[in-house]
Amino acid sequence: MKIRTRFAPSPTGRMHVGNLRTALYEFLIAKHEDGDFILRIEDTDRERLVEGAVDIIYRTLEGTGLVHDEGPDKDKGFGPYVQSERMASGMYLEYAKQLIEKGEAYYCFCDKERLESLKTGVNEEGDKEIIVYDKHCLSLSKEEVEANLAAGKPYVIRQNNPTTGTTTFHDEIYGDITVDNSELDDMILIKSDGYPTYNFANVVDDHLMNITHVVRGNEYISSSPKYQRLYDAFGWESPKYIHLPLITDENHKKLSKRSGHSSYEDLIEQGFVSEAVVNYIALLGWSPADNKEIMSLDELIKEFDYKTINKSPAVFDINKLKWMNGEY
Ligand code: GLU
Ligand code: ZN
Repeated sequence: MKIRTRFAPSPTGRMHVGNLRTALYEFLIAKHEDGDFILRIEDTDRERLVEGAVDIIYRTLEGTGLVHDEGPDKDKGFGPYVQSERMASGMYLEYAKQLIEKGEAYYCFCDKERLESLKTGVNEEGDKEIIVYDKHCLSLSKEEVEANLAAGKPYVIRQNNPTTGTTTFHDEIYGDITVDNSELDDMILIKSDGYPTYNFANVVDDHLMNITHVVRGNEYISSSPKYQRLYDAFGWESPKYIHLPLITDENHKKLSKRSGHSSYEDLIEQGFVSEAVVNYIALLGWSPADNKEIMSLDELIKEFDYKTINKSPAVFDINKLKWMNGEY
């Protein structure tokens, strides 16, 4: 089977070092086996879009040599897949409706006030409210749903996750990971504006694009059981999951903007050369068998083996990068 990987960024700002590492590993996994590397812009979350962010993604991939292989529009030099363009056909909604038919998803008509009353807090970054949905709308009868739809009542479509039992998925680095289904919220698949969430579009597109290996930061580990359930509900085979260890700063805190060197652009602005940055980022969580450190992109392609990715957090050491930069 041909290896196919994808980089699927949401255009929400600068290219974080962690995102670039994900893109690089996806690229290396594909190229190591002569496979395809695909670029897919996940821009259906219209509230999080940042102007210019798509250009940053293009510029970064161009500057680092991570060239993608195919796209919807060969004439325009391929171009990436763009989810907001793909949704025009209504296909994500069609897939969500298939899940409703199977009892794996349902319409939810709850209004803002009701959801507000279910709010338990905000996420770590403070940009997302945590709402554990209580399955209120799961008990609506078919007739009630039809009546609401006919009346034009706004709705979302939610995944219907069980509240008992467990779900297991396999990660290539961490092994089998099992969670209690009581921890799986009924995440939104289709939003009230008709756009799919990236959680849903991501799964549908990974399937349609025959993606074989999915690389993600390990902050996605808690979402992967829900993705696994979507694959199972559709009867699709899931790709291999590869979750990457956290990247921390010198103080072992998650690498953040405050460090001043958390994005590719920061580093280029500070005078680092792109080859050195790519070389250094490749080693954040992986090292070749012979522990060689200075490696070109071609050498990385040859040596990279995702099976030897580390589990423990990688420390971003700016002095190491400075040393490496001097070698280029
Ligand atoms: N669009 C998601 C993000 O950039 C991608 C998640 C994934 O790689 O599966 O946050
Ligand atoms: Zn509801």
